[in-house]
Amino acid sequence: MVKENYQVLARKYRPKKFKDVAGQTIIVKKLQQAISTGRIPHAFLFAGPRGVGKTTVARIFAKALNCVDGPALEPCNNCIFCKEIDEGTSMDFLEIDGASNRGIEEIRSLREAVSLRPAKARYKIYLIDEVHMLTNEAFNALLKTLEEPPDYVKFIFATTSPEKILPTITSRCQRYDFKPLGFDETASMIEKIIASEGYTIVDEAMKKLIEAGSGSLRDILGYLDQVMVLADGKNITPNITMEVLGTVSGSSTWEILKSIVKGDVKNAIIMLHRQASEGKDISYLVSALARKVQIVIWNHYGIGLQDEEIDSEWVKYFKRVPVQKFVKALELIMQTKEKIRYEPLEIVLGELLIFSLVDVLKTEIDMVAENTLQAEKKEENQVSPEPVVDNRVSKQDIDEISKINQKWEEILMMVKKNKPLVYAALREGRPVKCENNCIQIAFQETFKFLCQKVIDNKAIVEKIIENLLGTRYTINCFVVSGEKKIPLKDRSEVKEIIDIFGGGEIIETGE
Ligand SMILES: [Zn+2]
Repeated sequence: MVKENYQVLARKYRPKKFKDVAGQTIIVKKLQQAISTGRIPHAFLFAGPRGVGKTTVARIFAKALNCVDGPALEPCNNCIFCKEIDEGTSMDFLEIDGASNRGIEEIRSLREAVSLRPAKARYKIYLIDEVHMLTNEAFNALLKTLEEPPDYVKFIFATTSPEKILPTITSRCQRYDFKPLGFDETASMIEKIIASEGYTIVDEAMKKLIEAGSGSLRDILGYLDQVMVLADGKNITPNITMEVLGTVSGSSTWEILKSIVKGDVKNAIIMLHRQASEGKDISYLVSALARKVQIVIWNHYGIGLQDEEIDSEWVKYFKRVPVQKFVKALELIMQTKEKIRYEPLEIVLGELLIFSLVDVLKTEIDMVAENTLQAEKKEENQVSPEPVVDNRVSKQDIDEISKINQKWEEILMMVKKNKPLVYAALREGRPVKCENNCIQIAFQETFKFLCQKVIDNKAIVEKIIENLLGTRYTINCFVVSGEKKIPLKDRSEVKEIIDIFGGGEIIETGE
C-alpha cells in the first residue's frame, strides 16, 4: 500500500532550521541569543510533552554550534558538519536514548568518551533523550561528568518528566520548557504539509486529527500518514479520518473493555491483536481505553457529557463494578501510556495491560450478573419471560440475587477461611437465582463432584451466609449443561433432565 521510498511525514517535514520550528519561538530566541553572545552553557535541559520538537530543536542547535562558519544563528545545512548531523553519521553529535541506555555501564563509557576531544567538529555534543529514565547510579556517574566538563563538551538532556531528574543534575542545566502546540498553530502547520503533499482536508477531519494528537505534532503526522494512504483522490474527509482514528476509539474499544470486565482474557487479547494487524497504533488504542474508563467513572458520579458516544447499556453493566476499581484501572492505563513509547514491542505492553486490568476489574461481576442484567432488560422491555426457567423472575428476586452476588466474593472468602476444601468447591458454583430465601447455585456438569461437596457441607455454607448477610438463607445446588441453567426441584424433574443429558446419577440436594 505504501509507495516505495515513501518517507513518513514527521521525518520529511522535520524542520531543519530554527525559523521552521513551530510554536517554540521563545526557546529558539533564547538559544540564538546564547550563540550570538557566545555564552553557551555546558548543559541544557529540554523539558516538555512528547512530540513537540525537543529533539528536533536539539539537532538544529547542534548543527548551529558545529556549522563550519559557526557557531551560527542558523545552520547552513550544506557543510559536512551539518550534513553529518542530519544523516546521523556525525562522530561529534551523539544521540543516546536514555530509555534503552539506562545503566551505569553506559554512562561510564560515555564518561570515557567525553574525555576524548571531538573528532573534527568544534564541539562534542551529547543529546540524551528521555534522560529521566536513567538509573540513580547512572545519574550520579553523569553528575561527575557535569561537574567538570571539558570546554568542548555540550550536553542536551531531553525529557518528558523533568520532575524525575535529580535536582543536582537540573541545577547544572539551563532549562527550556517546550509547550504543547495550540490548535491554530497546529492547524496551520498541518494545512501547509497537506497542501505541499497535494491534498486538501475538510475542517471536521482536521479537528479530529488534532484532537487525537493532543498536542503532539509527531502523533498527528503519524495519523496523517495513514489517512493519506487511505484517502481516495486527494481530499481528506472526516470519514477517512474516522477510519484511522475512529474504529479504535469507537465500538471496538468498548468491546475490549467489556471482555476485560467479563474476565475474558482470550477475547480481549484477540481484539488487541486484530487492531494491531489492522495497523492501528497501540498507544492510541490505550488512550481510547483510558477515555472509555473515564466515561464509566464520570457516569458513576453523574457527570454527563455531550458529544460523546456512550454505550449506555454497558455503562449500566459496568456500574456493578465498584468505581474505585475503575479508578485503579485508569491509573494502570496511564502508566502503560507513559511506558509505551520506549517499548519497541508495544503489543506486549498492550497485553500486559490487559492482564492487569482483568485482575483489577474482573471480580464481583460475572456471567451471572450479566444474565441478571438481561433478565432486567427483558422485564423493562416487556418481552417474553425467561426462556430457561418457566416462571418469570420478579424484580424482588433480581434484587435479592444481585445483593448476594455483590457479597459473593466475601462469602467465598469466609468459607475459605473456615473450610478451604469447601471453598474450592463452592467457587465453581454461581448463584443464579434467589427465591423464598433459597439461593440457587449452579455448577457446570464437569463440576458435579464439587457440587456434591458443597451439598455435603450445606449447613456450614448456610451458616456463613447468615452471619455475613444477617438473613437466613438456604442453598440449593444443582448442575447445568451448556448455557441452560435448570434448577432441579424434584426427583422426577431431575430424572427428566438426566435423561436429556444422557444419563448420570441424581444428586440429592437435601431439600
Ligand atoms: Zn553548516
